[in-house]
Amino acid sequence: MSLTNKILLGMVLGTIVGIIFNVVLGSSQDQGQVGGVGQWLQVFVIDGLFDAVGKIFIASLKMLVVPLVFVSLVCGAAALGGQSRMGPMAVKTLALYLCCTSFAVALSITCAVLIQPGADVDIPTASNFTAPEIPSIKDTLIDIVPSNPLQSMVEANMLQIIIFSILFGLAISRTGGEAASNMVVFFNNLNDVIIKMVMMLMQLAPYGIFCLLAKLFSSLGIGIILDLAKYFFTVVLVLFLHGIGVYGALIKILSGLSPVIFFKKMQKVMLFAFSTASSNATIPITLRTVEHDLGVDNKVASFSVPLGATVNMDGTAIMQGVATVFIAQAYNIDIGIAGYLMVILTATLASIGTAGVPGVGLVTLTMVLQSVGLPVEGIALIIGVDRLLDMIRTGVNVAGDAVIAVIVAKSEKMLNIERYNNPTLNAENDPV
Ligand code: ASP
Repeated sequence: MSLTNKILLGMVLGTIVGIIFNVVLGSSQDQGQVGGVGQWLQVFVIDGLFDAVGKIFIASLKMLVVPLVFVSLVCGAAALGGQSRMGPMAVKTLALYLCCTSFAVALSITCAVLIQPGADVDIPTASNFTAPEIPSIKDTLIDIVPSNPLQSMVEANMLQIIIFSILFGLAISRTGGEAASNMVVFFNNLNDVIIKMVMMLMQLAPYGIFCLLAKLFSSLGIGIILDLAKYFFTVVLVLFLHGIGVYGALIKILSGLSPVIFFKKMQKVMLFAFSTASSNATIPITLRTVEHDLGVDNKVASFSVPLGATVNMDGTAIMQGVATVFIAQAYNIDIGIAGYLMVILTATLASIGTAGVPGVGLVTLTMVLQSVGLPVEGIALIIGVDRLLDMIRTGVNVAGDAVIAVIVAKSEKMLNIERYNNPTLNAENDPV
């Protein structure tokens, strides 16, 4: 069985086991049973085994993110430095990220206005949601430059690591001579070793994903979706429209390549993103797939994938667009066309500020709501289904990074089209 199928099986079984446990635990609580099978399941299986294996799996993925991004980006920048293509490529990548995210928000607002998910919602009188502090744009800009690169790595501050790695790589290429070529060889060798580690850890994915989902669904249940069905399915619908329709069209129109091949090769990356709900933790798999399977040159991929995982969040922006319309409708507040334009702007900025870790999109939603004067407590209305939506939108977030990487690489003549079209090239088939 291929690794992708094993991961799918792990997901399905994990979900089923989680739902069964949820029902078993719920009924033993209803009957007032203390101790017994219910408690044993909760303590030893769910909070013990599933929690531990799931956490070890996520930690092992995260373990590789910082070394992989640093080493891979140094290789990319060192190779690009001599050709002075870094600037135009970076500008193109950022511009495409921003355009794509603004389009995603506009699409989500249009769909939400048509579907009206919040039209018949009763506002709960009490809510215990308090808005967190959002840093100012000035502080955010200052914070991009690392004052201590080692600290950036310890804290896994992705933007700071990206800036330091690019400067380091460019400096290598400008140093020239034997020193520079020795460094390039060293970093390329190191890169191969870290990629081998990624391949080794990918083999654990089916078990890790099984445990993550079993634990999640045992506490979540699926009843909660029914209460917020209209909101939930509106977000899911727009995520699918954007994730399949818009991305497919972009690949076809802007690069002339087959979207079917793209989605086939991206399958496992999206499954990883779905199970971990973290673009950051998925970076190793995204980078490997974009370079190895889709044929994007390391010079483009090593820059656009980690940057995208940090600033490009179309799925998150879609959730924020629908959530804003939903909350406006639930509170009977009309924010008007100017309000919607403001939402497009702030949701695009908020998605840049959203870290690629679970649940942050909901925090930065406060910024969007505040920009149009909507009550931040409205977030309490949607918090119940956010974890599930987080998983689906993270899949869209990482697919968006790969789409732009492919388009930029194609336009910069840094895409190996034979590799892209070769159906047998799949990182999971590599010997470990
Ligand atoms: N979980 C998302 C990600 O990592 C961010 C979010 O929307 O909360 O991409």
